[in-house]
Amino acid sequence: MQKVIIVGGGMVGLSLALMLAKQNIAVQLLEAIRYPNYQDDQLAPYHSSFDARNTALSRRSVMIYQQLGLWDALQQHATPILQVHITEEGSFGKARLVAEQEKVESFGQVIENAWLGRVLLTQVRQQPLIELIDGVEVTALEQTQEQVTIQAKRDQETLTLTSKLLIAADGRDSFCRQAIGVGVDVHDYDQVAIVTAVQTSKPHQHVGFERFSALGPLALLPLPGEYRRSVVWPVKKGTEAEWLGEENDQHFLDALQQTYGDRAGKFEKTGKRFSYPLSQVLAHKQAVGRVVLMGNAAHTIHPVAGQGFNLCLRDADVLVRFLTQHLTQSDDIGSPENLLAYEHSRLKDQQRVIKFCDSVVRGFSNQNPVLKLLRNTGLVAFDVIPGIKPLVANYAMGLKA
Ligand SMILES: Cc1cc2nc3c(=O)[nH]c(=O)nc-3n(C[C@H](O)[C@H](O)[C@H](O)COP(=O)(O)OP(=O)(O)OC[C@H]3O[C@@H](n4cnc5c(N)ncnc54)[C@H](O)[C@@H]3O)c2cc1C
Repeated sequence: MQKVIIVGGGMVGLSLALMLAKQNIAVQLLEAIRYPNYQDDQLAPYHSSFDARNTALSRRSVMIYQQLGLWDALQQHATPILQVHITEEGSFGKARLVAEQEKVESFGQVIENAWLGRVLLTQVRQQPLIELIDGVEVTALEQTQEQVTIQAKRDQETLTLTSKLLIAADGRDSFCRQAIGVGVDVHDYDQVAIVTAVQTSKPHQHVGFERFSALGPLALLPLPGEYRRSVVWPVKKGTEAEWLGEENDQHFLDALQQTYGDRAGKFEKTGKRFSYPLSQVLAHKQAVGRVVLMGNAAHTIHPVAGQGFNLCLRDADVLVRFLTQHLTQSDDIGSPENLLAYEHSRLKDQQRVIKFCDSVVRGFSNQNPVLKLLRNTGLVAFDVIPGIKPLVANYAMGLKA
């Protein structure tokens, strides 16, 4: 039986391991952090990848989890997005996308990362084809024409493992990427994303809001429970100092209220705030020999449009198809030519998403009055020009590459 090594058991590494096992491919999954042992009625405690955040899953991502047989479990803590409203502070333009008008059930689903992580981890632990090795850090990687060899350390113990294919899903600062000599283009946005959950006096009615403000693009997404919403607010570094910490709850709620107006009613309560530094990190190559980069190790992007993980899942889905198709003709699962063909096939979708997210951040950060007017007319045009909405909706749902 074919075996693959995955380095990195974040949301991407765990999802990919399950996709491979479904195709009868054995996986050794190595993760630096020791996973929690939780009781059945608890959410998974903090882990770097499935933390306090919520993820907006596109329709295509939901379909991928449906095919894996995970959606019934995942949807217990997921909420559909039925409308998306986009506005800019101090401007008259407004763009609206309505799922019913686009003839789709929803634009996607918002899910708590803690729940997504817990469902993935539970499935991985139950899957006999996956050997989960956590609490080990991969510290060496070498490859020959025939195979890849890695060393992983746990306390004083060193493990040596070999495989014909290694998938590096070890995050933005990927050790594996450096070990195979792949460079990166880095752009520091000089921003942090403030992430939390809030309670508002008006019910969310499954509407997702994106509001471009002088402080940064504020996203409010519906959460399970009629009045709960997730907040992702990328702001200039330093601003967050005023809002982090329990004693600053009211200060933060006031800032939200001022930026948002009364569309959501009164901002009544906020949870603990977390902050994530934001940069774009793009690998120069994604396939070298028998190693392929996945997830944030391949491309880390700005969360402004909630596209990063959705893009990673599409990559993973296509990679698994390339691997299984190739296995019908050859017994070499790590064939370098096949990995290069995979990389080539993904570039168009990746570049489209990367460019889109980057231009939204840069385009809306500029307060030049002429640009503001153009943005306004753009938002109005979006609402009246026929044909634009279905196109944008399809891209956002991950249904068009
Ligand atoms: C604020 C914010 C909001 C977001 N919201 C959305 C959204 O709504 N929708 C969306 O699609 N995307 C969203 N994203 C993007 C999404 O979070 C990422 O795409 C996703 O987390 C990438 O996961 P990953 O598994 O590739 O990387 P990571 O989560 O970084 O996982 C990498 C794993 O590798 C392990 N590791 C690292 N080095 C080693 C080593 N040497 N040996 C062993 N293990 C190692 C780490 O411990 C870690 O568990 C958001 C991002 C941010 C910052």
